[in-house]
Amino acid sequence: MRTVLLTGGSGYVGSHIALNLLKKNFSVVIYDSFVNSSREVFNKFNKVLDEEFLKKNLKIYEGDLREKDSLRNLFEDFYLNGKKINSVIHCAGLKSVKDSLLNPLDYWDVNITGTLNLIKIMNKFSCKKIIFSSSATVYDCNQSGLLNEKSILKPINPYGNTKYIIEKLLQDIYLSSKDAWRIVNLRYFNPIGADPDGLIGEGPSSEKNNIFPLILDVASKKLDKFTIYGNDWDTKDGTCVRDYIHIDDLAESHIRALKYISENRPNFLNLNIGTGKGTSVLELINTFENINGVKVPYVFGQRREGDFGSVVADNSLAKTLLNWEPQKNLEDMCRDGWDWFKNSGI
Ligand code: NAD
Repeated sequence: MRTVLLTGGSGYVGSHIALNLLKKNFSVVIYDSFVNSSREVFNKFNKVLDEEFLKKNLKIYEGDLREKDSLRNLFEDFYLNGKKINSVIHCAGLKSVKDSLLNPLDYWDVNITGTLNLIKIMNKFSCKKIIFSSSATVYDCNQSGLLNEKSILKPINPYGNTKYIIEKLLQDIYLSSKDAWRIVNLRYFNPIGADPDGLIGEGPSSEKNNIFPLILDVASKKLDKFTIYGNDWDTKDGTCVRDYIHIDDLAESHIRALKYISENRPNFLNLNIGTGKGTSVLELINTFENINGVKVPYVFGQRREGDFGSVVADNSLAKTLLNWEPQKNLEDMCRDGWDWFKNSGI
C-alpha cells in the first residue's frame, strides 16, 4: 500500500484529495494544525468507504509544520513500523491574499518555515517525491491571453510571494540532486464546488474570502448581498473573469501527478491546474441561480486594489503530461457546492 503524507489534509483542497486517494486505495496520513479546518471533516468518509479500511488507512496527526520535532516523530513512527512514507502532497499553509497584506510575517513564517522544515525532514528520511499546492498568483496576471507555465512570474502580494519562493526552493533542491527528487508544483486556478457525494465542501473556520463560500452565504440568506468588485473591467460583461475548476477535478490532478512522478525519472515540473475556460463573476452567479433555483442578490462595488480583469489557464501541459482532463462543468461546480452546503448544517 502506498503511503502518502498529506499536509493541510483537513482543509478544503486537502480533504478532497484525501477522499480521492482513499477511494483509490492509497494509505493517507494527514498532518494538520486545524488552524483553518476541523477533524470532523473526516466523519462522513465512512458513508462511501469501509470502516475497517479507514481505520487502517487514514491516520490523522495534529501538528504545526513549524514544529520540527513533531514532524520528525511522525516520519520516524512510520519508518520504524516499516510503513515508509513514499510521497508528500503539501497543501498546508495560509492562503488569504487579503490577510497576507495585513500579516505578512505570519505568511512567511507558516508557509516558508513550514515548508523548509518539511523538506529537511523528507530529505533525512529519503522521501523525495512532493506535489506542492502552488497558485496562479505566482504569475504576472496583467499579461493578456491564457497563462502558460512559461508566462512571466510576478506575484504582487505576500501570499503570492511565498508560493513563488517555495517553487524556487523546490527547484533548487531538485537541481542539487537531479537523480533523486521528483517535484511537481501544481498551480491551481480557482477551485470551487464540493465532492459530488456531498460529504465535504469548503467550510473554512476563518474569515471567508474566496468567492464561492460567499455566494453560498448569500444564497442561504446568511448574508444580504454579494459584492461584485468592479463592472468596468475589459471583459465580456465588465466583471472579473476567472478559471473555475471543480474541486474533484483538482483533487484528481494530484493523483495523476503522483502517478506521473512515480513512473518517470526524477523531474521538476510546474503545471497549471485549471479548465482553460474563463467565466465572469456574473456568469458564475447566473449559473448558480439557474441550476439551483435560488437567488444571489448582488451589488457592484469598487475594484479591489491589486485585482486583475482576467486570469485563465492554458492547461495543455498538465493535460498532456498527466493524462488528465477536467470532467466537470460550471453547472456541476454550482450544483455540487450548493447540495453539500444545504446539508452541511453550517
Ligand atoms: P485551507 O485553509 O482550507 O487548508 C489549508 C490547511 O492547512 C488547513 O486545514 C489548515 O488548518 C492547515 N494549516 C495551516 N497552517 C498550518 C501549519 N502551520 N501546520 C499544519 N497545518 C497548517 O486552504 P485550501 O483552500 O485547502 O488550500 C490548500 C492549499 O492550496 C494552500 O496551500 C493554498 O495556498 C493552495 N491554494 C488554494 C487555492 C484555493 O482557491 N483554495 C488556490 C490556489 C492555491
